[in-house]
Amino acid sequence: MKNRYDVLVVGAGGAGLTAALNAKESGANVIVLTKEYPTRSQTCMAQGGINAALGNAGEDSVEDHIANTLKSAHGEADPEAISFMCESAPKAIEWLDSIGVCFSRTEDAKVAQRALGGASASRACYAQDYTGLKILHTVYDRCLEADIEIQNEKYLLEILKNSSDGVCGAKILDIRSGEVEIYEANAVILASGGYSRIYDKNSTNSTASTGDGIATAARAGAELIDMEFVQFHPTGLKSCSILISESARGEGGYILNSKGERFTKELAPRDVLSRAIDAEIKKGEEVFLDIRHLGEKLINEGLPQERKLAKLYENVDPVYELMPIKPVAHYTMGGIKVDRQSATSLKGLFACGECANHRVHGANRLGGNSLLEIVVFGKVAGENAALYAKQNGQTECLEVDTSSVIDEIKGYENVLDFYAKREHLGDLFYKNVGIVRTKQELEFALREVQDIKANISKLGVSDTSKVYNTNLVEFIEFKNSLDVCEVVVKSALAREVSCGAHYIV
Ligand SMILES: Cc1cc2nc3c(=O)[nH]c(=O)nc-3n(C[C@H](O)[C@H](O)[C@H](O)COP(=O)(O)OP(=O)(O)OC[C@H]3O[C@@H](n4cnc5c(N)ncnc54)[C@H](O)[C@@H]3O)c2cc1C
Repeated sequence: MKNRYDVLVVGAGGAGLTAALNAKESGANVIVLTKEYPTRSQTCMAQGGINAALGNAGEDSVEDHIANTLKSAHGEADPEAISFMCESAPKAIEWLDSIGVCFSRTEDAKVAQRALGGASASRACYAQDYTGLKILHTVYDRCLEADIEIQNEKYLLEILKNSSDGVCGAKILDIRSGEVEIYEANAVILASGGYSRIYDKNSTNSTASTGDGIATAARAGAELIDMEFVQFHPTGLKSCSILISESARGEGGYILNSKGERFTKELAPRDVLSRAIDAEIKKGEEVFLDIRHLGEKLINEGLPQERKLAKLYENVDPVYELMPIKPVAHYTMGGIKVDRQSATSLKGLFACGECANHRVHGANRLGGNSLLEIVVFGKVAGENAALYAKQNGQTECLEVDTSSVIDEIKGYENVLDFYAKREHLGDLFYKNVGIVRTKQELEFALREVQDIKANISKLGVSDTSKVYNTNLVEFIEFKNSLDVCEVVVKSALAREVSCGAHYIV
């Protein structure tokens, strides 16, 4: 089966759907493919807010937003890209508001704003602590209204290139039927999310964040950048890694050790705070997030999801009890290298969202800047992909067949359980490629990844059926993760000096 489009978007999170809307508004014939359902994309988990210097909760300025973002990036960002993002932020909020995102409001009906770490002002616009959910569902509604074709349970296997080395489409597994399909497009936008799930259960992320798009782009020859920069969030719930958002500290929450002492600045940037908590835990202390003093009314109104999550997953009610916490892998600053037009190093391939690196976060992202990035650069990617598609006309894929990695996997022995390897690797990465790194531990992790890769044919799938084979999909995700893991460790070894989230001793 062959399908032809101007623009093919892979991924239906906030970045992909924003890109699709903008590509369509620019006149392109667009399709969005996603391996899960759009409303389940990780964007729906974002809680704390989206940054814009509106000054609705005290004085603020775009210049301060730029300065805070630059400072947090530790010199590893592109100042022009940051200026563009921060300058575009008020318009981005205006746009989200205009399409129906139900932001929380101040008493005089302005968009409400709260403090997040590393920000000199209360700058994060929020919808209680459901900000990402409200944004994702609203943008999805607008895509449906704009009649954009969105197909679910379609898994990206390969990016296709034509003879001139430009991109001409993608090879896709239809998860439901098990068929491999070809989608031809003049331009492809990858918006497939980040790779924090390489840390397996030691991550706040959706199980879908396995770095598929990044691994697939790299196999097609696209450049990656800064893959060693993985952000650890200071306040994951201790026993399940579920995030308690920075908004809890933004509202005035404390970080305490077992003696009940505040030992760090609660709104320090995430890399600094994660290291402070990690050091305390290594001393044998338990660490807690305390919001009891905020009172039930504020917690129910401003942090209802946090309360539910803590009760459900940690069995503590934060209105009355301390929440045990630990830092966990949360956001990946590294990704596919893109320019200011969101174009990758491959002609016709664009990328946006967490899978891309627009160099606006550098070595440490500020809370609230990721939702901002997906909206600002989702638009840039959509518009530029549509323009590219128009200017470059029909790009046919030559000599495409439907053979794929699936045929190779069929020959694997499946004598070792890959789920056990995945968990082992996640724990190893948490320890060896985590908050504090050493050369020896990184080298050990690299050997382990390379050993699993060399013996990959001993792994495999137990379910050999064609239809709805989730065992197969999870194995392909694991293969992608392995590729990503190898690049992350190699990049970490190559950067010998500590910088932001990459801290080496
Ligand atoms: C718990 C949590 C809280 C957060 N809170 C905030 C916050 O308050 N503020 C903030 O700025 N940021 C926050 N973030 C970060 C932010 O939510 C994400 O960085 C952002 O939403 C990523 O959006 P995205 O569109 O790039 O990717 P995603 O929303 O992850 O979407 C990726 C899409 O790609 C699809 N996909 C992936 N692989 C394939 C494949 N092989 N084939 C087909 N489709 C594929 C998925 O199905 C999905 O539709 C938070 C993150 C988490 C986990």
